[in-house]
This record gives sequence, structure tokens and C-alpha cells, in this order.
Amino acid sequence: MSATKEEDVCNHVKVVVRVRPESQKEKDSNFTKVVHVIDQHILVFDPKEEEVSFFHGKKMTNRDINKRQKKDLKFVFDAVFAENSTQLEVFEHTTKSVIDNFLNGYNCTVLAYGATGAGKTHTMLGSPEDPGVMYLTMMALYNSMDEMKEDKICNIAVSYLEVYNEQIRDLLVSSGPLAVCEDTQKGVVVQGLTLHQPKSAEEILQMLDYGNNNRTQHPTDVNASSSRSHAVFQIYLRQQDKPASINQNVRIAKMTLIDLAGSERASVTNAKGARFREGANINRSLLALGNVINALADPKSKKQHIPYRNSKLTRLLKDSLGGNCRTIMIAAISPSSMFYDDTYNTLKYANRAKDIRSSLKSNVVSLDSHISQYVKICNEQKKECERLHKEILKSVFANREEIRKEYLKLEMQLKENALKTHYQKRCHEQIQLMCSEERIEKATWKRDQKLAMLRTHRVHIEQKRVEEAERFEENTNWLHRVENEMRLLGQDGCIPKVKCLSFQVQVSCIVGNI
Ligand code: ADP
Ligand code: MG
Repeated sequence: MSATKEEDVCNHVKVVVRVRPESQKEKDSNFTKVVHVIDQHILVFDPKEEEVSFFHGKKMTNRDINKRQKKDLKFVFDAVFAENSTQLEVFEHTTKSVIDNFLNGYNCTVLAYGATGAGKTHTMLGSPEDPGVMYLTMMALYNSMDEMKEDKICNIAVSYLEVYNEQIRDLLVSSGPLAVCEDTQKGVVVQGLTLHQPKSAEEILQMLDYGNNNRTQHPTDVNASSSRSHAVFQIYLRQQDKPASINQNVRIAKMTLIDLAGSERASVTNAKGARFREGANINRSLLALGNVINALADPKSKKQHIPYRNSKLTRLLKDSLGGNCRTIMIAAISPSSMFYDDTYNTLKYANRAKDIRSSLKSNVVSLDSHISQYVKICNEQKKECERLHKEILKSVFANREEIRKEYLKLEMQLKENALKTHYQKRCHEQIQLMCSEERIEKATWKRDQKLAMLRTHRVHIEQKRVEEAERFEENTNWLHRVENEMRLLGQDGCIPKVKCLSFQVQVSCIVGNI
């Protein structure tokens, strides 16, 4: 396959931040808010105003602020969603904006990044009552597909997997660890991953819920059902122009929606033993993701080695991050000082991601070459058919000739037989007139014997003649069949003139004889 339409666009990764509402625990405890959303693009982390509040005897943060200056860091992002933002608003400013790109054949990736409990799963998956980006994206895609159904044939399929402890597992069927490999044509491929085609909104919700329940989850100190794995939901879309023309294009694109595992440090969650190892693996892949993002963000990245191979997650995301892809990162944060370090780290990570540029290429595959190939194959096959038909026609005529000869030979034998019978009878009549009683008796016996023999022979010839007539009829059927097939294949279907004439002669000759 060759991409015919190439559009290289320098493209920044779109980074948005969502601040979730304070939890009851955060509200109840002695924590302050350390995130101040200024407008749809700007937020201030650890604002100076808090210091004022402190001196006025208000809430105290869990940090010893006397020992340090307020950071008072202003961050600018493509979008900032305040605590009261809805799922629909987040969808409208994230995935919805790339749906058109996706329909034009660009790969798209949405990453939800943040510490455990910051709101990643809520944003990506949500709940059946308040579904998140994954569901809203699917619904929007179905709507777009419905609008285009007059002009395009669309096929959509989805997969859902998790990367846990450096192993990939299918979340929609029970599976062992799956291998990831790179295909020169298809890009990154997870071997054995199942693809599904949900037919309704309910089916999508059920599937997402089923997959999410299969995720490896363990309670941590901060979240009772903390996701310890990266959940990767992928949508594959194939579109083809409808009226099958020679210049028919096929667009194939992949949308990847990822609910990453918590980015907090193992030490922060008091993790020990298995949980610590798990945390180390999560950090390993997030670290690898960070390194890939850093390398991609570097203006010299085109010449630089990008360390995709350092973790399963980055290997999996190779064609979703660096190359041919529109990427959106949703950084989820808590507003509370309870997660001061996590929020600070997330904001730094997100700020760095803004610098990633990726060159885009639409996955438009032209069918031109396939069609011309197809036309060539068809022509070759047509020639082969013509050749075969001529061969068959030749042998049908040869067979017809042979039947005719055989038929004429039998006719001759019958005439001979009739002549011999007549001769025997005439001979006997003469003997009866001229010979003695004794001789006549002898001759009668001899004549009867001869006549019986001739009769047997005649019956035998007549039988053979019937068989030859049947063969002739069969041969005629063959002739019509070949003739029809040649007509259907667009050949002239005409039997060569000479043959045609001899065919007519043979038919009238035989019919006349019969
Ligand atoms: P994460 O997946 O990042 O660990 P969750 O999405 O599970 O975090 O969120 C932790 C808790 O906060 C959940 O109970 C979730 O319902 C709630 N929550 C998160 N974001 C929001 C939001 N924007 N609005 C309301 N509740 C939220
Ligand atoms: Mg989660």
C-alpha cells in the first residue's frame, strides 16, 4: 500500500488540564486549594493569595509555608477546565475537535495523565449516568458515519487492552499476555488482540464497563479502586468512497484513548512489596513516556533517537505519539493542597508535553494501483478464457466430426445389411424355382440362418445408431454452452464461419439420414 496524499503539518500536542471538585475528605480536612483557574486557558498553581489567607487566620495548607516562598506559578494550556466543568464540555474541547481529522484519515491519541484519584477514569470512562470521553467520542463517530453513509462505506471496530506490570492483556476477553510488534504496513500491532463492533450506545457502555471491571485494580491509600494499569481503548475506522470508481480511496485511521495509571511516586502512597514493584513498573512506563515526550519535544528530535523501546506502553504508542498522529493530553489534577506534589509534577509534565510536535500524514490509501492490477488480471483471465473456449470449441467440433463419420458408417452398414437380406431372399426364390426338393430344404435352412444373422446384425447397428444420435445431441448441447459462455464473457460468441457451415451441413445430413 502506498500513501498517495501526504500532508505534512507541524503539529503541537494539545494539552488541557481538568481540575476536579474537592472530595469530601479534602473538604473536611485542613487543606487549602492550591489551584486557581483564571480563565479557559490559564491557571495559577500555589497562588500568592493563599499566603494572605493564611495570615488572616484562614485554612492552613499541609505544607510548612513559613519555610518557603509560594510558587505562584502561572500555567497556560490549550484549555483549562474548572471544577464545575461537565463531561460534555471536556469532550467538546478535546476529542470532538479531532474527530474531523480522524475522519480524514489521521491517527488521534488522547492520554489522561495524573495522580491516582485526580479524575482520569472519571474523565475518560465516567459512569453510565455521566459517561466520559470514550463513550462521547464513539457516539459522535457514529453520528458522523451516519451523515456520510450516502457517500462512504465505513467500518468501525474497537479494542480495549491494559498494560500492567509491563504485560499487555485484552480487557474484552480473558487472555494471556499479548505480544506487541511493528508491521511496516499496519504500524504497531498487538498480536491476538480481539476487535469488536458494538452496534448500539448500550453495547458501547456495556463493553467499556466490562473492560474496566477487568482492569487490574488495587486499593491504595488515596483511592479505594485505584487503577494500577494503563487502559488503552482503540477505535479503528476504515472508510471507502462509495461509487466504486477507478480512483477509489480508502482511509484507515486509529484513535487511541488512554486512561493511564496513577503517576504518583511509590513512596508517596506508602507502597511496599508487590504494590511497590507495581508502582515501580508504572513509574517505569510513565518515565519512559516522559522521556519519549521530552525527546519529541526537543527541536532536534528529528535527528534524535526516541526511546520508544524502553517500555511496553511507549512501544504500543509509537505510532500514536511521535509520528502520524494528532495527540491530546488531558492532565487531571485535584485542587487540594493534599496532593500538592502530585499536582505540581503533573502540571510540569503537562507543560513539557505542550512542546511536542509531530508531523502528520493522512492514512489515505489509493486503490488506483489495486484496480489497475485488477484490470490487468481480468484481461489476462479473459485471454485465458478465450484460449480455453477456443480449445473446447475445437475439441467439440472434432468430436462432432467423429460422430458424423461413425453415423455414416452405420448407415452404410445398415444399407449393406438390407441389400444382403434382399439378396438372400432373391437367391432363395430362384433356388425354389429351379432345384430339387432336397436341395430346396437345405437352402431354406441355410437362408434362414443367414437371415437370422443379418437381423441380429441389423438390430446391433440400429442400437449403435441410436447411441450415436444421442452423442450428437450431447455434442450440440456442448456447442450451445460454449457459445453462451463466450457471449457472456463479452466475446463475439460466433462460431467460426467455416465450422458453422460444416455444422449446418452435418446436421441436415444426419437429420436427413435419420
Ligand atoms: P483516577 O482515575 O485519576 O484515579 P477517578 O477518576 O477514579 O481518579 O476519580 C477519583 C474520584 O473522584 C472518583 O470518585 C470520581 O467519581 C471523582 N471525580 C473525579 N473527577 C470528577 C469530576 N470532574 N467531577 C466529579 N467527580 C469527580
Ligand atoms: Mg482511574
